[in-house]
Amino acid sequence: MQHKPTPSPLVVLPLAYLVSVMLLIWTLGPKELKELKELKELSEQGEVLEDVVSYEEEALVPLWPEGMTQEQVIELCIENMRRIPGRFPRQEIEELCSKVQWLSGCMSEESVPIYHYEKLSEQEGAKRIFALALIHGDEHPAGAVARAWMSRLERIQPRNSWRVVPVANPDGWARGTRTNARGVDINRNFPTDDWEQTALKAWQERGSQPRRYPGPSGASESETRCLMHHFREFQPDFIVSVHTPLGVLDFDGPPMSFPHVDRLPWISLGHFPGSLGRFMWRDHDVPVLTIELKGQPELDSLAKFDQLQDISGAVAIQANEIVRRAED
Ligand SMILES: [Zn+2]
Repeated sequence: MQHKPTPSPLVVLPLAYLVSVMLLIWTLGPKELKELKELKELSEQGEVLEDVVSYEEEALVPLWPEGMTQEQVIELCIENMRRIPGRFPRQEIEELCSKVQWLSGCMSEESVPIYHYEKLSEQEGAKRIFALALIHGDEHPAGAVARAWMSRLERIQPRNSWRVVPVANPDGWARGTRTNARGVDINRNFPTDDWEQTALKAWQERGSQPRRYPGPSGASESETRCLMHHFREFQPDFIVSVHTPLGVLDFDGPPMSFPHVDRLPWISLGHFPGSLGRFMWRDHDVPVLTIELKGQPELDSLAKFDQLQDISGAVAIQANEIVRRAED
């Protein structure tokens, strides 16, 4: 029997290097390469090494989760959108799901991809609005708002640019629990400046309810890190988080006047250590609107969801002006 000759490492190694360089150039556009070069120069001063490492890794990761095809992510989206309560035409679901994207690393603790939908505005002065639903897996009707907004964005040229994550906590949603698969409330797990000193303490003082467990440390959960990755990458001017069942509009942002919304009064509930409101508004100056629907009856009214989206957009523009003026 004849053995195949083993290729010499002297041939294989330079070849592998050449292939990886070509792959890098192919994956990155000229803009990304320039940024990468700038980051590398900075890193030589020992400043942003961590960023460079993650940037390079990100640039080389595939567009879809490992072991999954685009079709499988689309299929997951279709299944999800059909599971959300309220009637919705299958054709519209298929159309909007065919547009979903995936940000590298965005997986739940049980390795379910967390996908998103994006529609950019062509209008001048458009704000970047990041909307998410089902960060609490037991608030099923919240998903109906995200689905209605995505579907509407498909049909219109929006005034603002939108990115929507309809299912932010897929494992919790699959189980019907507020928390994720590890029993952590994602909306208490954001690494707010005061997380270490206050998150666990505040939780214990309020009776250590398992539903509100903030986790072993800030950003310990992959769902939290996925959202943080979106914030870094999308750079939102405004965030909308959809919940149930309190029936209010809870705003963490600059003082301002609000448009009237039927049956949903504006309030400020205040924010908790590790919550999205505290993390993005108090720590990062990005206003957060929390829409708390009352629950099932709201599902009958798609017009109401349109109104909520328009109001979110209007508040985003107004809040942003106030924040900008305060910074000047
Ligand atoms: Zn909630």
